[in-house]
Amino acid sequence: MNGTPLESLKKIFGYTTFRPPQQEIIEGLIRGEDAFVLMPTGGGKSLCYQIPALHRPGVGIVVSPLISLMKDQVDALVACGVRAAFYNSSLKSEEARQVLALLHREELDLLYVAPERLMSEGFVERLREIPIALFAIDEAHCISQWGHDFRPEYAKLGQLRQLFPKIPLIALTATAEPHTRKDILERLGLSPSQCYVSGFDRPNIRYTVLQKLKPFAQLSNFLQGRREEAGIVYCLSRKRVEKVSEQLRDAGFSAASYHAGLPAAQRQRVQEDFLRDDVRIIVATVAFGMGIDKSNIRYVVHYDIPKNIESYYQETGRAGRDGLAAEALLLFGYGDIVLARSLIENSDNPEQKRIELHKLNTMVGFAEALSCRRQVLLGYFGDRLEQDCGNCDICLNPPELVDVTEDARKALSCVFRVDQRFGVGHVIEVLRGSKKERLLQLGHDHLSTYGIGAEKSQEYWGSVLRHLVQQGYLEQDVSNYSVLKLSESARPVLRGEQTLRMAKPRAKTVALPKAVRR
Ligand code: ADP
Ligand code: ZN
Repeated sequence: MNGTPLESLKKIFGYTTFRPPQQEIIEGLIRGEDAFVLMPTGGGKSLCYQIPALHRPGVGIVVSPLISLMKDQVDALVACGVRAAFYNSSLKSEEARQVLALLHREELDLLYVAPERLMSEGFVERLREIPIALFAIDEAHCISQWGHDFRPEYAKLGQLRQLFPKIPLIALTATAEPHTRKDILERLGLSPSQCYVSGFDRPNIRYTVLQKLKPFAQLSNFLQGRREEAGIVYCLSRKRVEKVSEQLRDAGFSAASYHAGLPAAQRQRVQEDFLRDDVRIIVATVAFGMGIDKSNIRYVVHYDIPKNIESYYQETGRAGRDGLAAEALLLFGYGDIVLARSLIENSDNPEQKRIELHKLNTMVGFAEALSCRRQVLLGYFGDRLEQDCGNCDICLNPPELVDVTEDARKALSCVFRVDQRFGVGHVIEVLRGSKKERLLQLGHDHLSTYGIGAEKSQEYWGSVLRHLVQQGYLEQDVSNYSVLKLSESARPVLRGEQTLRMAKPRAKTVALPKAVRR
């Protein structure tokens, strides 16, 4: 293909400019570099491999688990004049033969292949005989058991690097949970320096977390002045959905329930009513929202804490698709953590259980954080926000900052003294000079950091340690009982070269976000 990637973007796809990291990714691939792309759904991942495939000799091989979407993608490309085809189990044998003939005649720019087809011996042999522009692995989180959608047929894709060492490889996903991310890099043999993360921010959504006191009163208070607006209220259980929905109707709100226990016809009807604005509020379990395309949802309330940050991000992300101001309100109560935890405890896969508990704890950390919500949220996805956002409860009503350098050093050196082999609870016990038997058996009462933080409460040390984790000074090793480890950035703090400030823990009596007249 002649011309620049930008010319292709205009001529073939009809767009005028690249979105921020697209161009960098595309140029890297054209040079033969690998890439790992983390972008939310709708961010524009496809162009990142489609354009380089057109600018490199040979065919671009795209792996996707979603057979039903392959045809749509290919049809759209063909309509733009791109020579694209797909090869999966939905093809009749004659059709499959035709696709293979095109492949061997080198008449394809892009070929979409199901993972199990690609890694079959016969197919790998075929690919050795023809020039290949690149491999693109879509929905790359399917390769990791950490992801929510592990697929065994994806595991074999780890061999691609060895089988085709010279062909650039691009992996793409919208699921950027840190452990999944690390796992994908390792399994595919990609380098962290080729990671591109962006586009997770939803600047028009205002995040607010309220301590859950009288939840229904808090909810109806929030909804006053928003009666004409469309919104979703998420609850953790079907029972609570029914109850809250009924209470709302009793209070004169236009509300309907939605959960997996309702007959399909009823769910369908509720959804349509909501789309047509015949009902304003949907009270729902997580079952609601998948594939719902309503751009003017003005708020999402979490009546209960979501199971993990991914769900929170995805669910709040349903608000404000039209780009206008939207609210995300989380009611956060300690009792809910117990409920959420018990739901996880029911799982009988111990590995899964540990992962989910860790994710829940991270969600709790987000709710308890006293620094910009958006920074914490984006930081979780590996996306960076340099400044405070100015559009979350913390930024709008900032807590007082206090210097915690001295205590941070105590906490960090205590983590070091226990050989980076213990979790938050134990570190706090050492700091506070606990006389617990296990601690004494370990001899940790002889450590230099034993009891150096006795005058401060357990909660205080909890928030210092959480702050250190959230700010990246400490890491929690999840594959090993959430053991705390020092990260590189802890050094300057330990050496006294850096000061640290943290929000002063406060009793939360923050006001509800006000409804704005539009
Ligand atoms: P993803 O795979 O990340 O979910 P897609 O690749 O399907 O996202 O892109 C989402 C939408 O954004 C598509 O309609 C796509 O055509 C459009 N899009 C992607 N890149 C650009 C761009 N640079 N300019 C305008 N629209 C774009
Ligand atoms: Zn903020």
